[in-house]
Amino acid sequence: MSLNRRDFLYRSAGLMAAGWMAGGRLLAQAPAGSAPVAPPKTDPRPPAPPVVPEFHPLRRNVGYFTARGGTIGWLASPEALAVVDTQFADTAALCLAGLPGRAERTIDVVVNTHHHGDHTSGNGVFKPVAKTIVAQANVPVLQRAAAERAKPPTTDRQVYADTTFAETWRKELGDEVVSARYFGPAHTNGDAVILFEKANVVHMGDLMFNRVYPVIDRVSGASIRNWIVVLEKVAKEYPADAIYIFGHAGAKFGVSGQRAELLVLRDYLTALLEHVQTQITAGKTKAEVSTLENFPGFPDFHQKLPNRLGSNLGVAYDELTQAKG
Ligand SMILES: [Zn+2]
Repeated sequence: MSLNRRDFLYRSAGLMAAGWMAGGRLLAQAPAGSAPVAPPKTDPRPPAPPVVPEFHPLRRNVGYFTARGGTIGWLASPEALAVVDTQFADTAALCLAGLPGRAERTIDVVVNTHHHGDHTSGNGVFKPVAKTIVAQANVPVLQRAAAERAKPPTTDRQVYADTTFAETWRKELGDEVVSARYFGPAHTNGDAVILFEKANVVHMGDLMFNRVYPVIDRVSGASIRNWIVVLEKVAKEYPADAIYIFGHAGAKFGVSGQRAELLVLRDYLTALLEHVQTQITAGKTKAEVSTLENFPGFPDFHQKLPNRLGSNLGVAYDELTQAKG
């Protein structure tokens, strides 16, 4: 199926209108005359901007969708439909509604790159119209544990993968082949790299934060040391001209890019560990190590406080000072 540019622009325009409405519903509107609802004191973030859903074709019927949360990858061919990650329930509905060429067709495969809520909370929207939800075997376990830890617990809202794999998974979908590989602990201990083999498009999930301080989920088994190894391996083993989809990106940077972007994050994580090791050797405490506002040498990552660097430094400290945990 050939999807031309005009089709996409048309769809995007329609979705944009729907998205603004959805965005309005997301914001709690105080009734006229009542006091505005104060945000929770623990959340320093400004209110979320309205959602603007966009479909971006990349190559050979594969593309990505952005609205809110982790980037969704999609395959939309005459023979098959697939999505990689599901964001949130409201944006998953927008993705499903605008998926190129869907009509009432069943989604052949939904893949979760890992368990985090901004990648799996739309699973329940896709499940009734999808043949299967696939994830690495640790994903449902980590998803359940995170839901139980949440305050209040969110266990009743979770929809889990029904097909899991330990190391690799692969499926023919019409004239495309989609495959997944687990490379060990990195961003969590359930991250998979998803490859659309014919299109040569690789969805990295949150193994890739493009020029923004990453989330390193140590409670869910993250390993900075192995994350560096994973990025090296993917950069070395996947085709040189692969197009990559990233889970997240800094405001000025794209959620899609090339191999070089992987090496930027590898360099940041390497420098992070080296910096923290130097501080530990100098006798600094975790609190002292974690106070840096921005990381020297990586200006593209810089962001005013609050940012995630303090957390990155703390996690690096824990990883370097504790054998396990
Ligand atoms: Zn994540």
